[in-house]
Amino acid sequence: MSTRPLPATARPEPPHVLPESPDVYKTLLESTRAIPWKIDWASMRFAYIGPQIETLLGWEQDSWQTVDDWVARMHPDDRGTVVDFCVSQSRAGVDHEADYRALTRDGGYVWIRDVVHVVRDAAGEVDSLVGFMFDISQRKHDEEELLRLHRDLEQLSLTDSLTGISNRRSFDQCLEIEWNAARRSTQPLSLVVLDLDHFKQFNDAHGHLAGDECLQKIAGALRAIARRPRDIVARFGGEEFILLLPETGAAAAALLAQECVARIAALRIAHGGQGAGAFVTASLGLGTVAHVDAGATARDFLEAVDGCLYAAKRAGRNRIETLQGTATDRPQA
Ligand code: GH3
Ligand code: MG
Ligand code: MG
Repeated sequence: MSTRPLPATARPEPPHVLPESPDVYKTLLESTRAIPWKIDWASMRFAYIGPQIETLLGWEQDSWQTVDDWVARMHPDDRGTVVDFCVSQSRAGVDHEADYRALTRDGGYVWIRDVVHVVRDAAGEVDSLVGFMFDISQRKHDEEELLRLHRDLEQLSLTDSLTGISNRRSFDQCLEIEWNAARRSTQPLSLVVLDLDHFKQFNDAHGHLAGDECLQKIAGALRAIARRPRDIVARFGGEEFILLLPETGAAAAALLAQECVARIAALRIAHGGQGAGAFVTASLGLGTVAHVDAGATARDFLEAVDGCLYAAKRAGRNRIETLQGTATDRPQA
């Protein structure tokens, strides 16, 4: 390969001087992947559309006669917004772009980005619209895939992998949200913290895999207690579970805590480890905030209910200890 400067006389025109022959433009326009088009504003007819349109959508070049053909070949869900937007922008003489799904001849859809330039005449009136259509299907597909992955990941990061119920992170988020909601709505909020009794001995007696299966069964039984859409059952960690019960007063929460005990008993999971009874049991702490006062924190409430759980352990396990009135707990009507 060699390079050399051209003699001064043979130098081409500077690059900003455009070639004069319209054929050059036509060749250029029809060799791009973007599809050029022109619409005459007065008649709303296509003055031109690149032949590439047939390759992309299957509709022949001369089947694009008026804007109605463009409108008709747009996905019904996109049509209203896109047409309104493009017409209003064009009327205002503003260059714009719009993404929409264009119908293909075989009944499918292709995502298009239409980039539109408004051409005005010497008097400043809109004369025509010129633009390029870009095939953005791949980009849209990639975006949707990324969104899906993001949702999956978010879901995974909020789910406990062993039991499939919410994890600690998810619970922490919900507690903050529900705590603030309870303060605004002046509705009660209840919490049940549950810890399996002598679970270390369960593992020792039956093995870690049996321990995992036991945790899955317990999670399944507790899940059935969360009947209302905003109820949360989460694995708080290890062999500890938690129920967050929005808009649930002390009496209803007490019934639900008793139901936890009953459902675990009904599983009849053999324990028999050192110090334990014949079947797996749990100890529970239960608390209700009748009215969340400004200044009270969810964390203090959680710690107070956790304190009840440990009181239940100290008192002999397999029981419920209930939080008595606290600074954040007013007598219920
Ligand atoms: P207590 O009645 O006082 O709660 O006694 P405990 O034995 O249940 O409590 P401790 O905190 O001493 O032990 C908890 C045990 O739970 C220890 C650990 O091996 C077991 N554990 C925690 N997470 C898992 C798990 O994911 N799978 C299994 N199989 N065991 C677990
Ligand atoms: Mg335990
Ligand atoms: Mg524990």
